[in-house]
Amino acid sequence: MTFLRSQRPRIYLRRLQKNPQRRRTYFVLGIETSCDDTSVCLYDRYSPSEPPKLISSLTSSLDNKEFKGIVPTRALNHHQLHLAPLVSQLLRPPNAPQITPDLICVTRGPGMRGSLSVGVEFAKGLSLAWGTPMVGVHHMLAHLLTPRLLTNGSAPRFPFLSLLVSGGHTMLVLSAGLLDHRILANTVDIAMGDAIDKSARELGLNGNMNGPELEKLVRRYEESVAAGENKALSKEEMVEVGIKVRLPMRPKPGRPQTAAFSFSSFVSMVKRGVAQKGGLSALSETDVQIIAKQIQDAIFDHAVDRITYTLSTVPHEVAAGIQDFVCSGGVGSNLLLRKKLMDAFPDRAMNLHFPPPDLCTDNGRMIAWTGIEMWETEGLHSSYDIMPTAEWSLENILGDVDGWLREDRTEPDVRSADLVA
Ligand code: AMP
Ligand code: ZN
Repeated sequence: MTFLRSQRPRIYLRRLQKNPQRRRTYFVLGIETSCDDTSVCLYDRYSPSEPPKLISSLTSSLDNKEFKGIVPTRALNHHQLHLAPLVSQLLRPPNAPQITPDLICVTRGPGMRGSLSVGVEFAKGLSLAWGTPMVGVHHMLAHLLTPRLLTNGSAPRFPFLSLLVSGGHTMLVLSAGLLDHRILANTVDIAMGDAIDKSARELGLNGNMNGPELEKLVRRYEESVAAGENKALSKEEMVEVGIKVRLPMRPKPGRPQTAAFSFSSFVSMVKRGVAQKGGLSALSETDVQIIAKQIQDAIFDHAVDRITYTLSTVPHEVAAGIQDFVCSGGVGSNLLLRKKLMDAFPDRAMNLHFPPPDLCTDNGRMIAWTGIEMWETEGLHSSYDIMPTAEWSLENILGDVDGWLREDRTEPDVRSADLVA
């Protein structure tokens, strides 16, 4: 508690002196290093009733082209190399005074341990040096709260559903409150983004992020059909030209349905299908585009199929209170997935929330916002002995890890005491 008190005055003292009306206003630093993107941002929380104002955000993405995926040690080195220079650039804008943040929000987990440790240890150092509170943020919570950043927490309102689709996770979550989340369906094998990246690689794509490349490939095919350059094919004709696709977990007599996702078979379907056609070199550009379309369609159809089933298992009284659906995480920026989700809920009074693509992929802004919500609504921040947490349950954010400190909101107004002191 002494620790809490010693940290608290700093955040208010400086601001309160500038703001005699005691407006709660402060600067927030967001740091994300859970995977291979080093991303930082600075917000001005200039008003509690407006979305925070973005001063700047900077991201450095690791180039994984030659490495068939993310190599953890390369990601670690990338963060070590870039984090401090990015924060320095952020806080020292040219021709402007240096800014010292009043709250530091850093991804604590889940993610790659080495990568996380770079951000967490850096945040501890800054927190100690500046006497500034630090919040260790749950990465998936941040993805799920992202649309609230743009509305200052007014939409979506709890309870809401989220489909979190990234390179490492695929889950359907029911959120009843900031710290109250239930995973309704999870993947039993690999994540949707991982399946997309691997399938795309089987089709010869070797970009830094294959998802958007696959989406472009499919779009090119669709545009060529619309322009009459290629014939429109039925699903059956597509199987002739392309590959056989089958949705996993479809209901079968005698087999109970599962509220879960499974994506690994899609990669095998592409691998097998391409091999049966004589390998990639035997395929024309259009053949590859057709297979890309088949697999992208199938992956998203499977997701919608399992979401529909999972929601049918939610008790009516719970389902009746849900009016918002968020689709977030890297794959959430895919326009076809968005369309399929919109088509899946035509008759329901469901508001769909799709954050802009740059907020769908990993970014420091969502981490900053989540820290703001935890700090402002729960008074939560983290102690200096927190560890990066590779596995961290979204269903037990506070209980699963230690190191939480809570501002006691029932205390007398220590802020005025601090001011007098
Ligand atoms: P994240 O792990 O949240 O940073 O998201 C990265 C994952 O999202 C990778 O697997 C990307 O290939 C995938 N991704 C990003 N943009 C798209 C897109 N437009 N379509 C499909 N997948 C995408
Ligand atoms: Zn992510």
